[in-house]
Amino acid sequence: MMDRCGRCKNEKTPLFKMSRLNSLLCSSCFEDYYERKVKNTVLKYGMLNGVNKLAIAASGGKDSMALLKVFSELFPHIKFAVIHLNLGIPGHSDECIKVVEKFCIENSIELLVYDLKKYHGYTIGDLSNLKNNKRICGVCGIVKRHLMNKVAYENGFDTLATGHNLDDVVEILFNLYLNGNVEEMSRIKPVAPSMNPKLIRKIKPLIEVTDQEDLYYVISKNLDYASSECPLIKGSRMVERKNLILRIEEEIPNFRYRFLKTHLKRFLPILKEHSQPITLRECDVCSMPSVGSICSFCKLSSRILNWVENA
Ligand code: SF4
Ligand code: ZN
Repeated sequence: MMDRCGRCKNEKTPLFKMSRLNSLLCSSCFEDYYERKVKNTVLKYGMLNGVNKLAIAASGGKDSMALLKVFSELFPHIKFAVIHLNLGIPGHSDECIKVVEKFCIENSIELLVYDLKKYHGYTIGDLSNLKNNKRICGVCGIVKRHLMNKVAYENGFDTLATGHNLDDVVEILFNLYLNGNVEEMSRIKPVAPSMNPKLIRKIKPLIEVTDQEDLYYVISKNLDYASSECPLIKGSRMVERKNLILRIEEEIPNFRYRFLKTHLKRFLPILKEHSQPITLRECDVCSMPSVGSICSFCKLSSRILNWVENA
């Protein structure tokens, strides 16, 4: 007997094995499920309220390509631009930029590409020679966060959407809770309002869909995405934690979603009540908001340049 779609009961192919729903879905039922879920998230958290100029951060991976596509399908009347960072990772970045460029050309979307090497003199690829490669993703994360915000701010955007999905956010939360990093925890939410004129409001429209669902969406929609994995991810703790979380989910159904909900509903209000407003000043080097006289990105960049020069 042929397998059938768990919703429409038709014997169509391909059928996606939905681990969260414990059922099979055909392409059209899956796309319907995914698009409804993202739309519901965007509306529930008021992600588009008051937006005048929207940018979407796109690396070219499955998540950001799914975000570009689902956004275009759900909100065709909302114009947005795409920001892509060229991180200079050998065997990966060239493919990423091609994928993003192609999508933007085909869909007449404005694309801003920011080149790390050109403006800061180093690439993330330069870090591959470091002994402690487990920390490269952490370093890369600081670079991406800072530059995405900077490019969005300098180009007059008021909201930046990123492709962080449920697996990404739960992995981050898991680590923060484990280490009791209360300050960072309070920043993890679907909508991060702007706390400073130079810090752009951030939204995460994919926060309630999973890695698997993003992948199925790009496959179902026949979208190009960077199929090469970043070579620097090998040995990263982030991957180990994501796999661990998937194993927990096998024992505790819906663990990821429950963790996120508990964080948002139970912990965030308490954290908000007890948090002290942070006073920000301008970084002496880049003039972006900073707690100290030099921001963490500029401190990191000068350390990286030192490593690179002495490697
Ligand atoms: Fe950066 Fe790590 Fe992602 Fe590679 S896998 S792009 S190093 S965060
Ligand atoms: Zn700085």
